[in-house]
Amino acid sequence: MKKKLILSYILIILFISGISGFFSIHMYDGFYKNEFKNHLLKESGILSDILIGNKNSLNNEYFEDFVRQYGDKLDSRITIIDKNGNVLADSQKDKSIMENHMDRAEVKKALAGEKNVQTRYSKSIGAEYIYSAEAVDINGEKIVLRLSVPLISLHNMQRQIVFYIISGIIISAGVVLLYAYILSDRITKPIDELTLLAKEISKGNYSKRIVIKNGNDQISELTNSFNYMSERLTETVDALENENIKLDSILNSLMNGVIAIDKNNNILMINSVFRDFFKLPKDIIGKNFYSVVRNENLYSIVDEAHKNHNYIYDEVSFSAVMEETKILRLYSAPISKKGFEDENMGTIIVFQDVTQIRKLEQMRSDFVSNVTHELKTPLTSIMGFTDTLKAGAIDDRETALKFIDIIDIEAKRLFRLIQDILSLSEIETRKEDINLEYVNLKDIVSGVCKVLEPQAKRKNIQLIEDIPNNLPKFKCNVDRISQMFINLIENGIKYTEEGSVTISCKKTRKYIEINVKDTGIGIPEECQERIFERFYRVDKGRSRKAGGTGLGLSIVKHIVFLYNGKLWLESKVGKGSTFVILLPYDK
Ligand code: ADP
Repeated sequence: MKKKLILSYILIILFISGISGFFSIHMYDGFYKNEFKNHLLKESGILSDILIGNKNSLNNEYFEDFVRQYGDKLDSRITIIDKNGNVLADSQKDKSIMENHMDRAEVKKALAGEKNVQTRYSKSIGAEYIYSAEAVDINGEKIVLRLSVPLISLHNMQRQIVFYIISGIIISAGVVLLYAYILSDRITKPIDELTLLAKEISKGNYSKRIVIKNGNDQISELTNSFNYMSERLTETVDALENENIKLDSILNSLMNGVIAIDKNNNILMINSVFRDFFKLPKDIIGKNFYSVVRNENLYSIVDEAHKNHNYIYDEVSFSAVMEETKILRLYSAPISKKGFEDENMGTIIVFQDVTQIRKLEQMRSDFVSNVTHELKTPLTSIMGFTDTLKAGAIDDRETALKFIDIIDIEAKRLFRLIQDILSLSEIETRKEDINLEYVNLKDIVSGVCKVLEPQAKRKNIQLIEDIPNNLPKFKCNVDRISQMFINLIENGIKYTEEGSVTISCKKTRKYIEINVKDTGIGIPEECQERIFERFYRVDKGRSRKAGGTGLGLSIVKHIVFLYNGKLWLESKVGKGSTFVILLPYDK
């Protein structure tokens, strides 16, 4: 831009100075030539007046003297020629060797009465001369007075004029060019800056501004407008970005998955829940929904939403991309512009993962039917024996006592069942246990063993406590941890025919590791996974006979989880079982 501007300035200057130089040289040349001629004519006029003034003393000697004297004074060549062309005197040459001058144009014209000026090559001097000649009437005789000056002096003058004009042009062109350079710099610099700013804006950098140097020309007005525009752009983009961030954080903080698709099936917007759920890649905004999502169920929902252009609600189970089957509640709604509600612009789909809710609902209903079933058995038994007693068995004392014993056992089973259900629901609702204190697990275990000792003795089973004295104290609710040990040790006694139940504890880096090991019947491998479920029993009859409720291990599991612990089972049928529990302790 700057180069172009300077080049055009140079061209304009060259053009103008060329034209003006040409005309001024031409004009000055003409003017000086004229002046020169007039000057010669004037001088010749004066000289002829002198000659006329001295007409009485005119002779060859006088002429000789005259041409020498005035030739020196005027620094010109003076020649006097008679009417026949003979040279009477010449200030620069010997007249005797000079040829007849009748053929010279200036002489011819002078004799014809014309005062004239001629320019031509002088054969006698051998240089270009300018001649003025006029006829002077001396006593009726015409003589020609000729003045001549070598043209070289005129040429010198012309050269000088050209030199001055060209120098003037060069100096003024230089000054103009310098000014043009400064001016172009002033014009192009802000334009360059504006171009740079525009480029930065197009790259998304809106914070740049241009410093305005001079206040009121068009460039600074443009710069001002540019700065204002870029300020407004910054504000607008900032506001848009803020809105986007807000929308993004709202979308991503939603528990539900959201996706918006335009009518050409390109993804307009997606939140992290949706992306993570369907294991989609990160940069999929703008991409075709069908090329990035691979899920037939979703396809049919999008198709239907596009087709119906209406609100759709559905509950679908998905299994394609997940490890486990998930149940999703799907809502889809059409996207339309305000005022153009009939125009289909796309679809927004929101899903809610209801797998857990449905699972809990299922568990609750299973639990209710299990509890009902568990309650029904002892109650039926109690009712049956009560009816039999009422029907007459009460009179047979021996039978009556037997029946009352059974009713007592069933009532106790009922009581235990209700107690277990209550403690299970209490543990489940807690996030943290209450009445916590630092206790020594060794004390708890020996207390529990003391209570269960008679039960073990009845089956001839040995209870072995293997707990070191330096076990770190454990912060817990004593009743809760006691219940955990009771359930495990009691199970060990219940499901062991002979041998022992060993309770051992040891300290590891993070945990207190508890092992309750028996030498009992063991648990088949296929049942081990479900053993901690509510009411799950390997052998229902055996469990009932042993007075079990089917909730013992479930209670143990929930107590362990309440203390952020872990538990698992190692068991082999016929060899025995070991329940391993890890409880994190405070260091
Ligand atoms: P229950 O009241 O029936 O004992 P639990 O929840 O305590 O219920 O145990 C669930 C089932 O796990 C029991 O019915 C039993 O079949 C099996 N079980 C529990 N502990 C042992 C064990 N130590 N040895 C063998 N089987 C066991």
